[in-house]
Amino acid sequence: MRMWINGVGVDSTSGQVIEVADPATEEVLDTVPAGTPADVERAVAAAKAAFPAWRQTTALERAQMLHQAAARMRDHFDELVRLLTLEEGKPVPENAEEIDWSLNTLDYYAELGRHIRGRVIPSPAAGQLSLVLKEPYGVVGCIVPWNYPILLLLWKMAPALVAGNTVVAKPSSLTPLTTLRMIQVAFDHFPPGVINVVTGRGSEVGDALVTHPDVPVIAFTGSTAVGQHIARLTAGQIKKLHLELGGKDPFVIADDAPLATAVEALSYAALINAGQVCTSTERVYVPRTMLLEFAEALAERVSKLRLGPGIEPTTDVGPMIGDAYRSKVEEHVADALSRGAKVLVGGRRPPHLERGFFYEPTVLVDVDHSMRIMREETFGPTIPIMAYDTFDEAIALANDTEYGLGACLYSHDARKVRRFYEEVRAGTIWINDPLTDNYAGPFGGMKMSGLGRELGEEGLEEFWQTKHVHWDIEGGFKDWWYPY
Ligand code: NAD
Repeated sequence: MRMWINGVGVDSTSGQVIEVADPATEEVLDTVPAGTPADVERAVAAAKAAFPAWRQTTALERAQMLHQAAARMRDHFDELVRLLTLEEGKPVPENAEEIDWSLNTLDYYAELGRHIRGRVIPSPAAGQLSLVLKEPYGVVGCIVPWNYPILLLLWKMAPALVAGNTVVAKPSSLTPLTTLRMIQVAFDHFPPGVINVVTGRGSEVGDALVTHPDVPVIAFTGSTAVGQHIARLTAGQIKKLHLELGGKDPFVIADDAPLATAVEALSYAALINAGQVCTSTERVYVPRTMLLEFAEALAERVSKLRLGPGIEPTTDVGPMIGDAYRSKVEEHVADALSRGAKVLVGGRRPPHLERGFFYEPTVLVDVDHSMRIMREETFGPTIPIMAYDTFDEAIALANDTEYGLGACLYSHDARKVRRFYEEVRAGTIWINDPLTDNYAGPFGGMKMSGLGRELGEEGLEEFWQTKHVHWDIEGGFKDWWYPY
């Protein structure tokens, strides 16, 4: 496939390509251009040239273009779901949900962009007008990871566009295919240059985009390490950074939780997309009195999940995205075992699947916070469970992390629920319904999990800069001017 610059498909100036493989079979699906800084230059120049006219379009015109893109994605729904399943690996129902969410994000921001636009505030004196204006920045660089490549791109691109910015997007080199196909089939009615996609490696095109002087905003979703790298690279340029980074989300099971439902909720929260969700449950806290029964029920449930290629209708859990990601999970499990943890189920590559980056859903007990699996982002299908004695201790354990993306609680005790959402430092708190997003609900991290919010009104505000206009309409002499 080809990159998308200034409204047309193009090859890289390097003439080189990157192979994109199916993580379930390790077979090459297609190639994309291996972009270079020169390609970034072309894309940024196109986006910069398109900006003056784009920012003058009306909110209604932009909304109509976004609605049209959503409608065209609906027309190509099955094709996009299939391609996304092949390149990303998660099961078809999860990719159908991703595409459905993505096109609904376009519809949501199309309308929100028509609704919000600055305000008039009281002036300090009569005969004056004070306007608070919301203005686009210019070219927004959108850099996204492989785990939800379409959703995370549109969470940025939709609000950036309705706010009047133009966009240069860089998908992960592991999952660029659905993005390019989506742009071809659903976004080619936008004026040339308004949307551009450059494919390539993060260290080459990513760095070039991040440091480009004509790109004042970087909206990035990815690891905390790369987020820190971007912050360091851009420190001298004072760019607007929007960073959605890693997590180590806790799930606290309260002593009143209905065991069977909590087991189902937890399996989903920890294993959707093979645990490769930024808000995956990565550590679990269960009352000591319930631990044995809970862990056995969970192990029983998890052992019944069917591992296989995402494209097979019988698959519950797909492969991981790549070998390096699987190796990290193996290291975390080995570290935990060496410090006294026990595996109840899983803990290995499935013997019956020779190809693909599969790892069995894994339940561990006897874990503690000295272990990497309880401290670092594992990003795989692991569920380490730790006992607690009091709810105070559960909250302290939930907060014992450098991250603050999401946190889950299962409880019907209103006092516990209130304490949990007040005291746990995380950008999203889920009670009894883990990982459900809401278009109107701002999403993002506290602490090392990031800066800024996506979705909701906050997700649109990120792509506007605020200007205060103070206008004295008559413009007469002021008695506080010189001479004193
Ligand atoms: P990553 O940080 O390795 O890569 C993310 C993107 O950054 C990719 O497009 C990559 O090519 C690009 N990149 C890499 N090096 C770069 C550089 N030097 N300059 C500019 N761009 C560069 O992350 P990943 O492995 O693709 O994704 C997994 C990570 O993403 C996890 O840590 C996960 O928690 C995080 N994530 C966070 C959220 C959130 O909303 N907070 C959502 C999904 C994933």
